[in-house]
Amino acid sequence: MKIIVVGSAQDGGFPQYDCNCLNCSLCRKGLLKPLYRSSIAVIDDDNHVIFLDASPDMRLQMASIDVCREKLNRSMNNRVSPIDAIVVTHAHWGHIGGLAELGAGIPYKVPVYCSSLVSKMISKSRIYGHLVEAGYLKPQIFESRKEIPIYSWRGEPTMLKLKVLKVKHREDFTDTFGLKIYSSSFSVAYIPDIAFFNIEIEEFISDVDVLFFEGTFYYNNELEIVSGIHKTSYDLGHIPIVDSLNFLSKVEIPQKYYIHFNHTNPVLRKSSEEFKSILRFKLKAAYDGLTINV
Ligand SMILES: [Zn+2]
Ligand SMILES: [Zn+2]
Ligand SMILES: [Zn+2]
Repeated sequence: MKIIVVGSAQDGGFPQYDCNCLNCSLCRKGLLKPLYRSSIAVIDDDNHVIFLDASPDMRLQMASIDVCREKLNRSMNNRVSPIDAIVVTHAHWGHIGGLAELGAGIPYKVPVYCSSLVSKMISKSRIYGHLVEAGYLKPQIFESRKEIPIYSWRGEPTMLKLKVLKVKHREDFTDTFGLKIYSSSFSVAYIPDIAFFNIEIEEFISDVDVLFFEGTFYYNNELEIVSGIHKTSYDLGHIPIVDSLNFLSKVEIPQKYYIHFNHTNPVLRKSSEEFKSILRFKLKAAYDGLTINV
């Protein structure tokens, strides 16, 4: 099994299109790497590729994976879906925008595991609804805490199973879930958007080998200070890193990473005190291309 971080930025990507803050300007000068939107690829021992979230960068994220490129190289008639299934945490654009990419190919009926609400939103949307009708996407509804085997679009079971837990994020049109993907020997949790931590979440992630956790903002007032936008981290449904360091450092998981970084986050600069502080708490910052072989 292999886990690849194919994107580590928040929904707006990095740099953000209209921003010249310190991080974005360092990025445009080539001093920080641009980052794709948050997404993880989990690859089982049969080379099934499961994407956690379908970011608007998904087309390039697929192309960045060796296994996906090899599948295309071996394909009949030069066509094959290089990914087997997608699991969606919630329906904010940075997490579902990539679903539209699949409409450019052959209708493979790629399974999209999601909540009942998100399934309805996808099926009724003018953008995505016709992709479901025409067989490009096949929504598969998940429920909190229920074990779900993940199937490939080819109809065969992968070696991976899924459990999800409803979490509090932003109270708007979508519900939001934390994901846990596991094989018989390894498990990974992915919770990129969450407003607070509680005992339920601690129990949900307590048995995983690797955790990817909400790291959008370092400070609650970061957006106001850097961008002059009068919204706090909590207003937007994100627990800031400064408030999650303590409890995450106490959760016994072998590898713990922050992910889903906003362009304003000082953690994007390895020289920052904030980056050093997360290392002091025995946590790490995920980055595009980070690969964990298990
Ligand atoms: Zn997000
Ligand atoms: Zn910026
Ligand atoms: Zn969100």
